[in-house]
Amino acid sequence: MQKRISTSADLALHGAPPAMPAPVHVGRPNVTNRENFLWHVDDILDRNWLTNNGPKVCELEQRLADYLGVRHCIAMCNGTIALEIAIRATGMTGEVILPSYTFVATAHAVSWQGLRPLFADIRLQDHCIDPEAVRRAITPQTTGIVATHLWGGTCDVDALQDIADEHGLKLVFDAAHAFGCSHGGQRVGSFGNAEVFSFHATKFFNSIEGGAVTTNDDALAEKIRLMRNFGFAGVDKVIHPGTNGKMTEINAAMGLANLDSLTEVMDTNKARYAAYRAALDPIPGLRLAEINTREERNHQYVVLIVEDSFAQSRDTLLAALTAENILARKYFWPGCHRMEPYATQQPDAGQALPITEALSEQVIVLPTGPTLPMETIGVVRDVCRVLAFGNAAQPRHPGRAQRKNVA
Ligand SMILES: *Cc1c(COP(=O)(O)O)cnc(C)c1O
Repeated sequence: MQKRISTSADLALHGAPPAMPAPVHVGRPNVTNRENFLWHVDDILDRNWLTNNGPKVCELEQRLADYLGVRHCIAMCNGTIALEIAIRATGMTGEVILPSYTFVATAHAVSWQGLRPLFADIRLQDHCIDPEAVRRAITPQTTGIVATHLWGGTCDVDALQDIADEHGLKLVFDAAHAFGCSHGGQRVGSFGNAEVFSFHATKFFNSIEGGAVTTNDDALAEKIRLMRNFGFAGVDKVIHPGTNGKMTEINAAMGLANLDSLTEVMDTNKARYAAYRAALDPIPGLRLAEINTREERNHQYVVLIVEDSFAQSRDTLLAALTAENILARKYFWPGCHRMEPYATQQPDAGQALPITEALSEQVIVLPTGPTLPMETIGVVRDVCRVLAFGNAAQPRHPGRAQRKNVA
């Protein structure tokens, strides 16, 4: 029997047993088609072709290119290597402008290519890099922009492309969050010089580990294919310094299986999102990020913003949820510019990043997806209500929340 959370004494934070019997994680894999996956695995073993641009990888690339509406899709072993290869293949040198409010792999990929990351601030309206901040960050050494489409929304693609054209910069999008999402009605995948996806197990669409670079540029696609495979242009013929970015057949098999259930997962995510919103919107000081509402979004991230007007701090709310076994997460706290090596290399970077710093203190990402136990949303609601009002009964006249009335 699940406990009821009606007053602050019922909170696991205050010593009561947790509401959820087992940990509920953010980013549990969306695996919806086990039989299909196992059929592909048998097929791979029968054929005894495990990697090196095998038939499953080729099939996945073709289906992804069709789905995304882009000429070339080059599958990779993961999103980070895909980013590095895209950054290198587009010819970025010197300095590259990117957001700090992104997963640290975006910054690391720039830095592993020997380039200097310049962090630009984000906009509150979409949590993505602010084109005006990009303009301010440009120096004579700047050669590229790596912009992250966050939460399944998209960057201001058109403004960024204008800036890139004006200043002769390369533009790559980190689209790790944006698989299946649209901008101006067109699926993410063909914007900028190239877009980079991650198919990591935690992502909306997964191949266990995996990723891809997509582009409409034939010459760039050719170069990226060479770089993915040590620079081999034929048997014994190497024409480029390359690395090993190849996707295995098993990863492609998981990708093919999961491609068949994208709509199902998207619909489930949308329903979870709507349920969270209905549960949390009436609580003063809490709201879900609502980004690009006129576009298709995968709702893989349920982003809760804890405003200063909420009765408790973001970290108290997070601790209260964690105590109930709901392992919600801060994202992207504390921001790449406060992680190493960037914090030491650029100790003053935060001065130009006020919105990044403020938002990273407010966001909690809540667990969602097909594996979410249905009770979770009710528990999150009750915990939030108890923290906001002192008890979970919805007050008839929701007044101003009383600060520090619980913890
Ligand atoms: C997941 C992620 C990556 C890294 O992808 P991997 O496949 O895990 O290497 C890069 N950028 C963003 C924004 C991500 O969310």
